[in-house]
Amino acid sequence: MSESVTMDKIVSLCKRRGFIFQSSEIYGGLGSCWDYGPVGVELKRNVKNAWWRSMVESRGDSVGLDCSIMMHPTVWRASGHVEGFSDPLVECKVCHMRWRADQLDKPACPSCGGELTEPRNFNLMFKTFMGPVEEDAAVVYLRPETAQGIFVNFENVVTTTRKRLPLGIAQIGKSFRNEITPGNFTFRTREFEQMEMEFFVKPGTDEEWYRYWAGERFKWYLDLGIRAENLRMREHEKSELAHYAKACADVEYLFPIGWSELEGIANRADFDLTQHAKWSGKDLSYFDSQTNERFIPYVIEPSAGADRSVLAFLVDAYREEDVEGTTRVVLKLHPSLAPVKVAILPLSRNEKLTPLAKEIHERLSRNFVTEYDDTQSIGRRYRRQDEIGTPLCVTVDFESLEDNQVTIRDRDSLAQIRLPVARLEEALKAKLAGESFDAGSLWAGARA
Ligand code: ATP
Repeated sequence: MSESVTMDKIVSLCKRRGFIFQSSEIYGGLGSCWDYGPVGVELKRNVKNAWWRSMVESRGDSVGLDCSIMMHPTVWRASGHVEGFSDPLVECKVCHMRWRADQLDKPACPSCGGELTEPRNFNLMFKTFMGPVEEDAAVVYLRPETAQGIFVNFENVVTTTRKRLPLGIAQIGKSFRNEITPGNFTFRTREFEQMEMEFFVKPGTDEEWYRYWAGERFKWYLDLGIRAENLRMREHEKSELAHYAKACADVEYLFPIGWSELEGIANRADFDLTQHAKWSGKDLSYFDSQTNERFIPYVIEPSAGADRSVLAFLVDAYREEDVEGTTRVVLKLHPSLAPVKVAILPLSRNEKLTPLAKEIHERLSRNFVTEYDDTQSIGRRYRRQDEIGTPLCVTVDFESLEDNQVTIRDRDSLAQIRLPVARLEEALKAKLAGESFDAGSLWAGARA
């Protein structure tokens, strides 16, 4: 993380450019709830799509699922959430602020120094009522993780896909936790999106698969541009492990609040399927017809947060650069994550420029996510595109009308080249795929 990035700067950029707004802002906002704006929703979709491509589409050994948020209440008994999904809550006897006891260094209130109550367990699951009458029988929970929907569908998936182990089942969706201390922007909220995979394997191969997934998931962030010095893997001590986990490691990112978890990779052994078999009375074992063995699969779980990933990508991409005596803010997002890939900017709103600029926009928008902008000065428009992380801008000027050439401006190097309109698509594609801006045959003939 560069020295100059603070959470305040990220929050301010997000609001200014339309990445993230406070929920219900005109009513004063709702604590720890956030809305993704026009460019934020694109960034988040790109993050989720990159995850889905890497975890499902590009693999032969995994499939996807999209389960309901409300599930049979017994699911949460079997999973251990009703009994044990809680944090130790303490309250200050003086100012009544509430804290998570396991996150405090001292037995005094961090806000006013007052004396704290004894910790009591606070269950993090949101409860609601299904049906018109608020009675106990109808209590349901909003899922606190997407994983359980995968476990309870394990048999359905195996039966309908006829897939063999090892088999991954992936899901992206909302989860809800009534966190005691939400905060730090979208880092910890009460409603968030998870990207989870349960990878079912034969017992005995689990440790190898655990190491494999830890490596793969770490690499995923690096491949999408996170700087290596801001990412680390932290293996949990045996004493930190949940009772069901054989091993667990966190991918951590150096947020402005310090090193914090981005994703957890856990070896959950056969805990979940065994529990659901017990509580549902269904046999959830798997028969391996090649070896004639029957067993309860072990599970490796890479569990990531979509919102937390978006925040890490924003923080990591944020730069303040000195350009000719002024500071430019730029998001150096990986092209595949950038909300807009190519901006088409006529030099001005002059009516002579509009037809060619619109024609180019119409053509490019068939192949790229584009934005057409002819408001304000060209400088301000470049500034906006830099701040939303648009990798390339195409500028149409008066000379373009004569020579049918346009200028492409590169977000990162600020290099500009001119090339014929006919070669635009080819050039933009190559550039977005990572080709150097000024080298290679593609650019031969282009006038710098
Ligand atoms: P913590 O210890 O920080 O409360 P956790 O270890 O309980 O987190 P997991 O249950 O492993 O988190 O959840 C997997 C991922 O889901 C996390 O790595 C994180 O990216 C995301 N996540 C969990 N809780 C939240 C939250 N309240 N807000 C945003 N993202 C979250």
